Amino acid sequence: MDRPALGAVEDLAELANLDEEILLAEIKERYSRNKIYTYVGDILIAVNPFKDIGIYGKDESQRYRMSKKTAQPPHIFAVSDAAYQALLGHGGRPPGNQCILISGESGAGKTESTKLIIKQLVELCKGNTQLERQILQVNPLLEAFGNAQTVMNDNSSRFGKYIQLRFHSGQLIGGKISEYLLEKSRVVRQNEGEENFHIFSYLFAGVQQADPEGRFALQDPSQYRYMCHGARRLKNNLPVLHECFEELVNAMDMVGFTDDDQQDLFTVIAAILHLGNVVFELDDYDAAMVTDPNGAVKIAAKLLGVDSEEVASCLTSLVTVTRGEYVKRAYSVHQAQDARDAMTKAVYGRLFGWIVNKINQLLAPEIDVDPHLMTEIGILDIFGFEHFEKNSFEQACINLANEQLQFFFNQHIFKMEQEEYMKEGIDWTEIKFVDNKPLLDLFLTKPIGMLALLDEESLFPKGTDQSYVDKLNSSFRKNQYFTKSPQTTTAIFCISHYAGKVTYQAEGWLEKNRDTMPAGIIEVLQSSTNALVKTVFRAQITRTGSLALQGRRSTGRVSKGSRQRPIPSASDGAKRKLTVGAQFKTSLSVLMERMTAATPIFVRCLKPNHLKTADNFDEKYIQSQLLYTGMLETTKIRREGYAVRPTFEDFVSKYKILMCRLDLKGSRDNCVKILQASKMTRWHIGKSKVFLKYHHVEQLTDILDNL
Ligand code: ATP
Ligand code: MG
Repeated sequence: MDRPALGAVEDLAELANLDEEILLAEIKERYSRNKIYTYVGDILIAVNPFKDIGIYGKDESQRYRMSKKTAQPPHIFAVSDAAYQALLGHGGRPPGNQCILISGESGAGKTESTKLIIKQLVELCKGNTQLERQILQVNPLLEAFGNAQTVMNDNSSRFGKYIQLRFHSGQLIGGKISEYLLEKSRVVRQNEGEENFHIFSYLFAGVQQADPEGRFALQDPSQYRYMCHGARRLKNNLPVLHECFEELVNAMDMVGFTDDDQQDLFTVIAAILHLGNVVFELDDYDAAMVTDPNGAVKIAAKLLGVDSEEVASCLTSLVTVTRGEYVKRAYSVHQAQDARDAMTKAVYGRLFGWIVNKINQLLAPEIDVDPHLMTEIGILDIFGFEHFEKNSFEQACINLANEQLQFFFNQHIFKMEQEEYMKEGIDWTEIKFVDNKPLLDLFLTKPIGMLALLDEESLFPKGTDQSYVDKLNSSFRKNQYFTKSPQTTTAIFCISHYAGKVTYQAEGWLEKNRDTMPAGIIEVLQSSTNALVKTVFRAQITRTGSLALQGRRSTGRVSKGSRQRPIPSASDGAKRKLTVGAQFKTSLSVLMERMTAATPIFVRCLKPNHLKTADNFDEKYIQSQLLYTGMLETTKIRREGYAVRPTFEDFVSKYKILMCRLDLKGSRDNCVKILQASKMTRWHIGKSKVFLKYHHVEQLTDILDNL
């Protein structure tokens, strides 16, 4: 048979010859023709076009509705369609929960893909409900507060999220978002060429609407320390940013945030900007004091609804109780600056947690639904693998999450599948893959994984970042994925991740992991007269561990339809004194539990170049992404393997009609009879299951349709 023309094959698992070069050449050729999507069996590869290719309109939406996979070119909408059909129980498997896992580097297109998947899901189950309109506006709202311009991506998500869309009889009945590890440090510090969260620029651009009476007292953006890198771009892009502000307000209106909610949010954002301008110097007694020529502390305190003297005091000194007596210890200037930044980070972090909680309350199922009748499609959009010049605790957590996702992918695509072939006695030549379990162990094993050691050191009064690295060096000296730094004077070490070697600077890790804030600051914020500040600092942890906030709708309803363990989010555990690492570890394991209980669909986003430009395919860069994600091995297993594996019972019950016999029993013999009658080839029969390729299922469906 002639080899098909380069780029003509839509499913790379159908290629007869396969190696890295062929894989790359096929993707490159397709990309050059604006065919950014390609299948590898049931996995979708998406190359970011960095331009509008006009393929997400009504026509396409209509075309990918209850469609057969092979009938249409690969498309992100087909992922929604496949998930929705599977949710309803079409296509060889019983109905059940689905999860769509989207991975790729920063700027590869994960968030855009997420939005397109949700848009199409809403089209598919269209009931034209208020809920659907709300759900479509959740992303712009979250992006305003959780995304920022970085060197990698102009709209980089600085938090991870898992969106669960809940259905009943195919109708959308609710949604829930879990957020992971918002990069709070961005509020107070941004690297060269990067900016603060979008909301800060949006507020400046929309200040006349947000603050007609001038209460926020906002001056030129260049006057604010927290805006240092964004001020110039802001000035040059005012009309665009003003539009963004209006879109945000629309999104908040649509999702259900009241005018008061919105006003409170903007007020707190303005307060943060002023708080960042509070400066300190030493007084005559060598103690830090607030020098406030522009009244920053007064304005910030007023906007936060707290007393400015108390703010100044809690930022410059720590009050402890020793043997029943209050002892006031003055801070150095440096400590006072840290206290100020800790305060803003805490306020912003809780604000973000509040937004997510509020959205969850507003999207909670309205009706009491029996949890057994409720199904869901989860969509995971986490931060991509990160490897900067300087990598800190945040990068370690982000990269750990990516390791976990890659592990989940490997488990599904390679391990479980091949084990099943062995168990079922299918003739199979093993396909090797790079197992990253040792890396997960390096981070997560008890009691000496990297996170456990970090917790130990964080609790140890004399622990330092250097003593932590010393412990790592001695605990993992024989671990091939860990490399000790030759410089012993700096707290540095290297980890060989599945996606490459990363050097980590451990400076500040203990503090970041503890994430504590002086009690005095919390007390001041708890006394606030601003409804929002008061709520977020008064939040109580419920028995289930989720954060219950005072809201207009009862939180009882949120959990009613769901008996699942709640996913702890970044804002949870604030009062339980869990370290950031421990919280993250728990949320990752709950997420994995939930994903394991669903049928996964994988989307692999590829970034074609570092310059964020269209029509620019950097072969080396793409090749490295294909390599570390194990795409060649994936293609091989998808070519050789059987994506659909129903049990004898399920198979017979679904297709017995082909034999015109409704009383047919779910036995091996009866499966063979049906398969023979269908005249298909290359299927396999195991000890308890039938092994099919997805085109087999489509052929069977065709036969059923034409009966
Ligand atoms: P991060 O990990 O930094 O959040 P990401 O993978 O979520 O990155 P996106 O924000 O989805 O990346 O994409 C980056 C940019 O690429 C988008 O802002 C958009 O300009 C462009 N882009 C992504 N996907 C598409 C697409 N399908 N069509 C057109 N442009 C796209
Ligand atoms: Mg993103």
